[in-house]
Amino acid sequence: MAENKSSASAKPTHTPFMQQYLRLKSDHPDKLLFYRMGDFYELFFDDAVRAAKLLDITLTTRGQTAGEPIRMAGVPYHAAEQYLARLVKMGESVAICEQVGEVTGKGPVERKVMRVVTPGTLTDTALLDVKTENRLLALSFSRGKMGMAWLSLASGDFALMDTTADKLASELERLRPAEILIADDAGLALFDQATAVLRKLPPWQFEAAAAVRNLSRHFETHDLAGFGVTEGMLSLGPAGALLEYVRSTQGGALPVLAGLRCESQSQYIELDAATRRNLEITETIRGESSPTLFSLLDQCATGMGSRLLRHWLHHPLRSSSKIMQRQNAIAALLATASFDAIHTALDCVADVERITARIALSSARPRDLSSLRDSLAALPALIAVLPQDDFFASLAKALSPDAQILALLTAAIQAEPSVVLREGGVIADGYSSELDELRMIQTHGGEFLLELEARERERTGIPTLRVEYNRVAGYFIEITNSYAGAVPDDYRRRQTMKNAERYITPELKLFEDKALSAKERSLVLEKALYDDLLQRLQPFLGALRLAAQALATADVLASLADRAERGNYIAPQFVEGQFLHIEAGRHPVVEAQIDDFIPNSVDFSVARKLLLITGPNMGGKSTYMRQVALIVLLAHVGSFVPAQSATIGKLDRIFTRIGASDDLAGGRSTFMVEMTETANILNNASENSLVLMDEVGRGTSTFDGLALAWSIAKSLIEKNRAYTLFATHYFELTRLAQEYPVVANVHLDAVEHKDRIVFLHAVQEGPASQSYGVAVAQLAGVPKDVVRQARKKLLELESNSVQGGMQGDLFATASIMQIEPEPHPLQDALAGVDPDELTAREAHDLLYRLCALL
Ligand code: ADP
Repeated sequence: MAENKSSASAKPTHTPFMQQYLRLKSDHPDKLLFYRMGDFYELFFDDAVRAAKLLDITLTTRGQTAGEPIRMAGVPYHAAEQYLARLVKMGESVAICEQVGEVTGKGPVERKVMRVVTPGTLTDTALLDVKTENRLLALSFSRGKMGMAWLSLASGDFALMDTTADKLASELERLRPAEILIADDAGLALFDQATAVLRKLPPWQFEAAAAVRNLSRHFETHDLAGFGVTEGMLSLGPAGALLEYVRSTQGGALPVLAGLRCESQSQYIELDAATRRNLEITETIRGESSPTLFSLLDQCATGMGSRLLRHWLHHPLRSSSKIMQRQNAIAALLATASFDAIHTALDCVADVERITARIALSSARPRDLSSLRDSLAALPALIAVLPQDDFFASLAKALSPDAQILALLTAAIQAEPSVVLREGGVIADGYSSELDELRMIQTHGGEFLLELEARERERTGIPTLRVEYNRVAGYFIEITNSYAGAVPDDYRRRQTMKNAERYITPELKLFEDKALSAKERSLVLEKALYDDLLQRLQPFLGALRLAAQALATADVLASLADRAERGNYIAPQFVEGQFLHIEAGRHPVVEAQIDDFIPNSVDFSVARKLLLITGPNMGGKSTYMRQVALIVLLAHVGSFVPAQSATIGKLDRIFTRIGASDDLAGGRSTFMVEMTETANILNNASENSLVLMDEVGRGTSTFDGLALAWSIAKSLIEKNRAYTLFATHYFELTRLAQEYPVVANVHLDAVEHKDRIVFLHAVQEGPASQSYGVAVAQLAGVPKDVVRQARKKLLELESNSVQGGMQGDLFATASIMQIEPEPHPLQDALAGVDPDELTAREAHDLLYRLCALL
């Protein structure tokens, strides 16, 4: 740390070293600056304090600058990756500053920020989760519209879409970006709930005209029309901002981008944010990764497959031709029973997708290239087990990239290269004759010297002649003074010793020149050859990416086939028109958790659009509703489904309003969340949407809740006309079936068996007949007299409701509900009183209490 000693001037100024540091730091105020000093990355000032806290490393001070102590913390250079991984997980970004100049002794070594590691721009294996895509998202907003562009550096997927600003939450849930870029003048309140790192950039970076220029230049196209991008798309600005941001973090290098994908909302079955969570597609409601639909289906052998499966599950398709393509492929895999063999073949395949991305960014490590080589070598075995049809033929084609790539990698990389390039041992023998020679000198130098010594002894007749080496003199031939007369003419004197002279010959000099630098030169040469190899691989990146996609596709399809076989799934059928019929469907995840799952059917058509589901708690209402949604979702993913048969008509969206989830962090109460989600459904569901409503209205008082549930159901029937599964504990709603022919009642039953309740879990036509709440209360140990009174009350209420009649008008039978209002405290106080049991004194006290209550 000699560099940062403060000069002893009276006026405190920064040392030259600190000036350099502060200059570099000013370019990265919002990131931690890893400052390379010898074998360490050091952090200073506030960065040091923050890093020490986050990483639990020692905070020290070293020297002073401008009269202030310099706080410092550091991590060893060789262990930097693991610290980076931890910081990035915590949402931090790190600028990595390396020494680039020579040590001159005059002033600090020149340094430069070589790359910036941010959560959304990771490509390093150590820093990435194998099964999740790491996305960077950029957004801009204008008059209720939202322009969005997103990019995954590791897969090269780059897409944009224009939509409405109210889609923000559902899009964040769908894409799950690791990092979000917005202009610093954008409304930030919107992002209160985003879990991603938010990075604010100057607004000019979102300028559309510049974006079009930069993107066209990057893709070497005249304009962007070929990508389906139209002029004036709001998302162009974000797309441009993304590209430049990535360039700036990668030290100027740009990833290989698959092109620009223009997405539209109508490509996919739409799922809003709540639905993605409620259906527990990739995460349970509690935020765990299992058991979920994804964890159940993910039998993938590679990370590429797992990531693609996750994507498919979140992007159910509308186009039936694409769905059928996947479905037919699964059928072919089942028919040829080849899915196991595919997974076995894939076991030898590395993450070709991410390796390709690292090659593009010139950050691929030696082991990346050897794994790529081994993966390419394993492809023919994979192709051999694929079914033989047009679809798999196209996969096989993508899985047969130019043989030159494998040939090049085989020739260039050692069988087991060392982990880091700077240690050498990466480039294979025979790839470069120059390198071979340098290596030969290192390994065979000793032999050569012995051979030379023997030869020279013979030539000169000097038996004591020795060929030796030391660091000061280098290589020499030493001859003791007693043989001075026998020294040949071609010996040049190198050094005079007390009893001997040291000589060099032209041959030995030649050897010395080579040997002394052979090690360093071979390392330098290996680095150059490696860099050159990365360059020579660049033309093949497109082919490699296609191969990676084909690998992922084969992996997912084999996974889905595997699941279909083991779970006894069937191929759903698609029909035109309004129709949804599932025979003996099962909930895929619940089914896997318990022993005896009871299958249930569902039947929707133009004439039957809303099912009112009643039945006891724990009866299986939620499970039933979710299973319908999951089967529909899986069908549109192209997967087989857990049912006996499924026939599905046109569908555009799935909505769910399930369970009570408090959004306390977001400052909304349970009931507010419930109503917000309901509003979204009522405003957006169409006659082709599937809507799941579970216990709506529960979060408020009985009257309120019933009234709301009733009018919500009416609106779904009359206005939205969506396929609706409406589970409710408001028994009164079952009368809607009399009013509307499109409404049908179904129920789940339970039977009381001795002191137990047995849930049948079978969905049956008609409304539920009984409330089992009282029996459940008894089972739960509620005191006997309370249960007894409740039973009595129940009978009373039921007879009231019968007297009240069952006409269509819901509130004509308000007597049912009027019993519910809170009893007067006087009633409570008198409830348990038996006047015959009271003493005079107790009766007197009671009278006082009653008067007080009044
Ligand atoms: P509800 O929504 O009516 O309160 P749930 O759908 O939450 O009931 O179901 C409660 C439990 O019953 C589930 O956790 C599951 O274990 C079991 N269950 C639900 N449906 C079935 C079924 N069809 N077959 C077997 N068990 C089921």
